[in-house]
Parts: sequence; structure tokens; C-alpha cells
Amino acid sequence: MESKVLDGLMRPKSIAIIGASTDPTKIGYTVVNNIIKGGYEGSIYPVNPKADEILGLKSYKSLQEIPGEVDAAVITVPSKFVLEVVDEAGKKGVKGLIIITSGFGEVGNKELEATVVAKAHEYGMRILGPNIVGTLSNSEKLNASFAPLLPLPGKGALVSQSGALLIAMDMATFTRRVGFEKLISIGNMSDVDFADLVEWLDKDETTSCITLYIEGIKDGRKFMNAAKKATKPVIALKAGVSAHGAAAAASHTGSLAGAAKVYGAAFQQAGVVQATDLGNLFDLSLALSLQPPMKGDNLVIITNGGGVGVLATDAAERFDLPLKFAPKDVQEELKKHMPVFGSAKNPVDLTGMAGYDWYHDSTKFVFSHDWADGLVVLYCETAMTEPMEIAQGIKKALDESGMLGKKPVTVSFVGGDKSEKAMQWLVENEIPAYGAPDLAVHAISALREYDRMKEIISEPEETITTANKEIALKAIKAARDDGRDSLTEIEAKQVFSAYGLPVTTTYLAKSEEDAIKLAKEIGFPIVMKIVSPDILHKSDAGGVKVNIKDEAGCRDAYKTILTNAKAYKADANIHGVAIQEMAPWGTEVILGSVNDSTFGPTMMFGLGGIFVEVLKDVTFRVAPVSKKSALRMISEIRGAPILAGVRGEAPRDRVKLSETISSYAQMIVDLSEEISESDANPVLVYEEGKGLKVADARIILKKK
Ligand code: ADP
Ligand code: MG
Repeated sequence: MESKVLDGLMRPKSIAIIGASTDPTKIGYTVVNNIIKGGYEGSIYPVNPKADEILGLKSYKSLQEIPGEVDAAVITVPSKFVLEVVDEAGKKGVKGLIIITSGFGEVGNKELEATVVAKAHEYGMRILGPNIVGTLSNSEKLNASFAPLLPLPGKGALVSQSGALLIAMDMATFTRRVGFEKLISIGNMSDVDFADLVEWLDKDETTSCITLYIEGIKDGRKFMNAAKKATKPVIALKAGVSAHGAAAAASHTGSLAGAAKVYGAAFQQAGVVQATDLGNLFDLSLALSLQPPMKGDNLVIITNGGGVGVLATDAAERFDLPLKFAPKDVQEELKKHMPVFGSAKNPVDLTGMAGYDWYHDSTKFVFSHDWADGLVVLYCETAMTEPMEIAQGIKKALDESGMLGKKPVTVSFVGGDKSEKAMQWLVENEIPAYGAPDLAVHAISALREYDRMKEIISEPEETITTANKEIALKAIKAARDDGRDSLTEIEAKQVFSAYGLPVTTTYLAKSEEDAIKLAKEIGFPIVMKIVSPDILHKSDAGGVKVNIKDEAGCRDAYKTILTNAKAYKADANIHGVAIQEMAPWGTEVILGSVNDSTFGPTMMFGLGGIFVEVLKDVTFRVAPVSKKSALRMISEIRGAPILAGVRGEAPRDRVKLSETISSYAQMIVDLSEEISESDANPVLVYEEGKGLKVADARIILKKK
């Protein structure tokens, strides 16, 4: 539905409160009172079948009685009456419903919730909620909620899935000095969801930044699309990343893919800046609502104290924005604004003697200089200098530089009350200021991160592969027909191979004689493995024998593998023994996938082998994955240098590897109706130009 429909909900010219009450203990009273107190300038229509007047306003017996148009209706009546109210609102021509009432999906009453939404949609109405606090807007002077007051004014919008937290954050805007233009409680998201609000807020002129407190997203792809398209920064704090039922996973990938990893990947791909905690949510909202993105890596730090300078330098490295020395000409000029024992390198240390002039002059010079892509100004309170004067010097310099709004700046003052006041003044003048140097650096690094993500999003997406989906589906069907939801290695390799993945040649032997015939066909040395749908981790069952050099070894291995398998699981259904080409040694990596309940097919890549679950050196992307993104995956794991070639080792074939990752991602998208989890572990990667081999394959199907 187009976002215009949301105008009535988010920017109503008239508002009715259904369930308005004369009883101060009722939410229906609080909401009317809050709307009046907030200074709302549109028409307010309390609706209550028994009252004539509520809080000095004429009250109506029903929606139908209201003489004028009603844009939005706030519903506070008990859940059992909501459906009826929705019907009446539809007949009245109401555009949007703010359903504060709880007792729907959140307590298992999903059917009622769905019925209410369906009814609203019949009339073309949109629903915010149910089970929400309401919505608050400073520019509309509208507090249509039971939160006591409008937040400290700011430029960003904050959307929260938790009502209690929204009220708490509302109050905290004053103590944290981080204001918001809007606070929106999203509740059960029965209709309007995060994606809808991102889309609408992106077009809303009063909003400069969109901050989301997320517990769970329903439609991950819809959210990603909305965020990708947004022209304003989107910040997300995702709660609940610790448990994801990962323990029950059948594949390596399944056990490594927690909510944190998948959400993290999705946010990154959609250009969403991730807040690390509640404090960081406020800090980033401040910076991203007031300052533009940072378009290069050259960060300059100006300080009057070595200590805060070093702390900021450490933080810069931690947040992926390591400092570089300023060019010679910049250093020469800066030396004019500091004593001889100062440092012009970066951090620029003006020394404790620095007052208004040096702060002003150096800030103005650095911020105007093309080399600097962003600036952090630090100040340690001293007995000799006045924090407010320093703040004013900084602000004046920034104004005079003509670069405000073109590149970002953040500030940190460390000190007492005077420093606090000076920072408050800076924030009121739209310069983000923080009580610690690392916070100022974290904030500016988020502006850099935001720009980097947007840059990647703007890259053209190349599509790939000559895949043979039919062959893949045939192998899957074979397993399904057999009543299984896991594929054997042989079947899984057929699927992989259909998507162009270079798998080791593998045949199924049903007898010793068979095994010898097939081994000769492949050529020694060979690898032999148990083939049983009941044995997913073959080595654990003594079901893998590598480097078998001759016929005798082959006979021997055949017997041992079967004996081991029976000892491991007496009733295992055994298809036979796989006779397999022995791949030469290479760097072991893992490719894998999960079909995430929120984001769908999601790809994993990392260093493979038996320690993969211990080292957890893996990275995720919501599929599909372009070759360029695949290369980024390869370079962002901790073990990246191993693939790049360390200690005289030749670099590995990362080009071929990136193509394989990309094809794999295409496969899990194409087959997302079928594949639940999969992995290729190990994939052996060879020297540049020599490609790679998939030695093992595992596919778990969706239950049908
Ligand atoms: P599992 O079910 O235990 O994961 P794998 O098929 O991965 O069984 O085999 C275990 C190990 O044997 C692999 O990690 C790899 O080192 C080696 N291996 C398996 N297949 C091959 C092959 N075709 N060529 C070379 N080494 C192999
Ligand atoms: Mg394996």
C-alpha cells in the first residue's frame, strides 16, 4: 500500500479517541489529556456513549455523530469491542487507526487480530498496533499516546517495538540531551510494520534519521528493500540475539547462524547502521540525525590533552577508522596554532594551553581542508580555560569553514558542570557532543560506516550462473520419494554440481566388486565414505577412509566402513559406500546456508575443517550474493590472510572461490522452497588459477 495512506495516521488533521473517558485512571482519559496538553492544533473528538464532555471538549456518542472528517482514530476500548469500532471507523471514512488496546496476538489472540486487520483493509484503513503506547510528534504537537509528554525535540524519529521502553526512552531524551521529532510505538505490527514506517519516514520532511528498536522483524526481505531505498540513515538496535535454537541445527552452518549473525548481515546489506546497546542508540541517533555521512577515511582528531587523544586514537582503530598522519602542508599550517611542544600530526595536540583562538583557528583550517573527511574535536577541561568559550570557538570555526553539512564533526568534552553545559549548547546548535572521546569517535565512525554501506548498495548487481534447476530438483525428489528430509552426500553433490560447483567425482558402490570397478574407473588414490541417510556426520561413525591406494586397500576399507557404520547405528539404512576422487590438499573452507525464518536463504562462508564450530571464523550474507560481495566475504573473515597467502604460501584462488560462493547463493535462492540448511565442508581451495574442489556436501530439506 502506498505511503500516502499513512499520512492520515501519522499526520492527522483531526483525531477521534474511541473509549475516551472522564475517569483519570483510564487510558482513554490519559490520551485525551495528553493530546490537549501537547498543544495539538487539529480537531479533537472524544467518543464515549455515556459522556457529554471530556476534559472540556464536547464528547460524541459515536463516530457517526462527529460532524467533520476524522483522519485518525485512537482506539482504547477493550479488545472484544475493537472489531465493531473498526467497522464504524470504516463507515465514517477514518484513514488510520491507532490501536492502543492490548489482548491480541501478544496473548495468543491472533485470529481476532487478523480479523481486525482484514476489516480495516476492507475500508482502506491502516492500523498502527495493536498493543501500543501510541504515537508522538513534536512538529505536529501531537501526543496521541499514554506516554506523559512529548520528547525533547530533535530531528530523528524513533520507532520502538517495546511500549515500555518507548515511554522510558521518551523521558530519557531529556536526561541524555538527545531529542527526537517523533516517537512511534509499533506493537504487534499487525499491519503497519518497520518497512512501512521506514518508507514513510524517509519521505517525511520533519525527519532526518530513522532509529528502530527491533525485537523481531516479520518480513525480512520487505524490511531490507525499504531500508536499502531509504535516503536517510536508518539505525537499528536489535534485541534478543543470544538464543536462536541454534543448538538443534543439523548442519555446521545451522549451528553457527544465530540471530545476531543473520540480522547483522541483513542490516549491513540494507545499509542499516547497527547500534550496540541502548546508550549507543541515543549516541548514534544524535550524530546521524545532525551530521552528514563521512565520505572518506581521513579522520582528524583535534585535542588539548594527550590522554583523550590517545583514547580517541584507540577507538578510531577499534571502529575501523584508523588515523593517518596529516599531510605535510596541513601539519605546517597547524603548527602556527599551537606551542612548539604541541603536535600537528594527528591527533592534533594543541596542548593544555589551547584556548578559544587555537581551537577556533585549527578547527576552521582542518574542517575546510580537502584532506579531512571528518573531524572529532576533543577538550579536556582545564583550570585555565572556559568550556563554553571553547565550544563557541569550535562552533564559529565550523560555521566559517562553510563545510558544515558537507562533512561530519563530533565533539567530546570531558569535565564537570561547565563542560556539560557547553556540550548542551553544542547539541542545541546541532553539533553532536559526547561525554567521552570514544563515544565521539564511535559516532563519527557510524557516519563513515553508513556511507560505506550505501556505496556498496549502489553497486550494480551482476547475475550469474548457468544452472540446471531440473537436475537439482530431481535429486531432491529422489530423497523426498524415499521419505527423507536429508540428502545423502551423493545426492547433495548432484544438486551442487547442477549449480556449477566443482564437486569431487563420486559413485555409489553396493558391493566390494562394485567398489573395485568404480575405483579403477576414477583411478587411485581414492576416498571411500559411508552413504547412509541416518549418518550425517560420517567421520564420527568411522565412515570416511582417505588416500586408498590400491585394490586391497579398497576391499579392506569397504568392510571396515560397513562394520563401523553398523557399530555406530545398528538400524542405519545403508545405501552403500561412496567411491570418490581424492582431491589434492588445499586450504579448507566451508560454504553453507540456512533458510532463516525472517530473511530466507542466507549464505555462510568461513575457514572450514573440523574446528569450524570452535573458531567460528565465518561471515554471513542474505542471498543472493554478487561476486563482489563474495570477495568481501572472503576478505572480512579473521583468517583472510591465510587465503591471501602467508609465510611464503601462494595466494589461494579467491576469484574462483568468489564465483563459487555466488553460485551457491544463487542455488539456495532458486531452491529456497526445498532447502532448509546445507553445507559444503570442506571445500579445498588451491593456488590462484587452480580453482577448488568440494569434498563433502550436505543438504537438509524443509519438512513437508
Ligand atoms: P564428514 O561427514 O565427517 O564431514 P567428510 O566427507 O567431510 O565427512 O570427510 C572428512 C574429511 O575427509 C574431510 O574433512 C576431508 O579432510 C577428507 N576428505 C573427504 N573427502 C575427500 C576427498 N574427496 N578428497 C580429499 N579429502 C577428502
Ligand atoms: Mg564434512
